[in-house]
Amino acid sequence: MPDILPFLKSLISVSGLSGDETPVANLIAEKWRSLVDEVSVSRVGSLHGLKKGSAKPPCPSVMIAAHMDGIGMRVSKIVDGFLHITNVGGIDPRVLPGAEVTVHATGSNKELPSIVVMPPARFLPESAAEGVIAIQHLLVDTGLRPREVEKQVRVGDLVSFANMPFELAGNVLSGHTVDNRASVAALTVCLEELQNKMHTWDVWAVATVQEEVSYLGAYSSAFALRPQIAIVVDGGFASGPGANGWQAFPMGKGVGLCIGPNMHPFLHKRLRELADRLEIPWYLDVTPADSGTDAFAIQITAEGIPTALVELPIRYMHTPVESVALKNVERAGHLLAEFVVSLEADFVDMIVWE
Ligand SMILES: [Zn+2]
Repeated sequence: MPDILPFLKSLISVSGLSGDETPVANLIAEKWRSLVDEVSVSRVGSLHGLKKGSAKPPCPSVMIAAHMDGIGMRVSKIVDGFLHITNVGGIDPRVLPGAEVTVHATGSNKELPSIVVMPPARFLPESAAEGVIAIQHLLVDTGLRPREVEKQVRVGDLVSFANMPFELAGNVLSGHTVDNRASVAALTVCLEELQNKMHTWDVWAVATVQEEVSYLGAYSSAFALRPQIAIVVDGGFASGPGANGWQAFPMGKGVGLCIGPNMHPFLHKRLRELADRLEIPWYLDVTPADSGTDAFAIQITAEGIPTALVELPIRYMHTPVESVALKNVERAGHLLAEFVVSLEADFVDMIVWE
C-alpha cells in the first residue's frame, strides 16, 4: 500500500477555496501527471486525469470524483486596519476566533499571516455581545499598520485557514479542508494502485471545483466527459462529541457506502459485495434524498448517470480541525481501484435499475 500521508499533508497545507481552487489544483496535477495518460483542466477549473483502459475504442468510462475546494472567508470591509470578513461556503463561526489564517493580499500579491479576533464584548452591539459572535462582528488582524493594510489588502481578497496538518495519536490526521482533500488522496491511492493492474475501462479521475457552493465542477465535468458511471468520494459525519446516534458513524471502522435514491442500486450492490470480498470494513449510510454531494449533480446530468457514493467519516466538519482516520483513506482508494479492475467490458449492459 503506498504511503499517502505526505501527499495528503501537502494537500491540506495549501488554500483552494471555492471559486479559487488553483493552488490545490496545481498540486494535484503535479501528482497525477505521472499516474495518468493525460491531465487537463475543464473550462471552470476542475482537474481531469484520464487513465486509458484496455478496451477497444469507444472505451466505456468511469468517472471517479472528489471535490477539491474548501471553505474559507473573504474580506468584506477594511476599517482602521482591521479586516471584516464574510464566508465562502458554509463556515462554522463558533470556531473562528483565534484561528490562524492567510490573507491573500492582491494589492501587494503577498500572503499575510494573520489571526481572526473577537472584539471585546463592550465594543459590540448589546444584542451581539453574548454567545457565539456572528461572522460580521469578527475581525482579521494582519499585524500591519492601517496604512500598510490599505496599500496591500483589497475588499474581496480571500482569507484561508493557515493551520498546518496535525497528526493526532491513533493514526488520525487533523487540519483544514480534510473535507475533501482526504477524498482527493483516496482517488490518488486508487490511481497509484492501478499502475500495476489491468483495467478494461477508461478512468476519469476528476477533482471538482465549487462543491461547497454549487456543485459547479461535478455538473460541468459529468456533462463534458459523459462517463457511463460515476463513483464520488466525499466526507460524511463521523461520530464524536455531539454527533452520535443514527446520523454519525464510528471514525475508524471503515468507509461508508451510501444507499438511497441518489445512488444507483446496482453500483451500490457491486461496491458492498466487493468490499466484503476484499475484507474492507464498511457501514451503510442511508441517504434519504439528495446526498448534498457531487454525487447528486452527476446523477442528474445529461440523460442521467448511474452514480454511487463512498464516504469517509470525518469529525468536526467545516472547522479548521476536521479529522480523518488515515486507514479509511487507504481503504476507499483500494476499494475504488478494485472496483475499476472489476468492470467487465459489458458492465454497462448489466446496469439496470432494480
Ligand atoms: Zn465535502
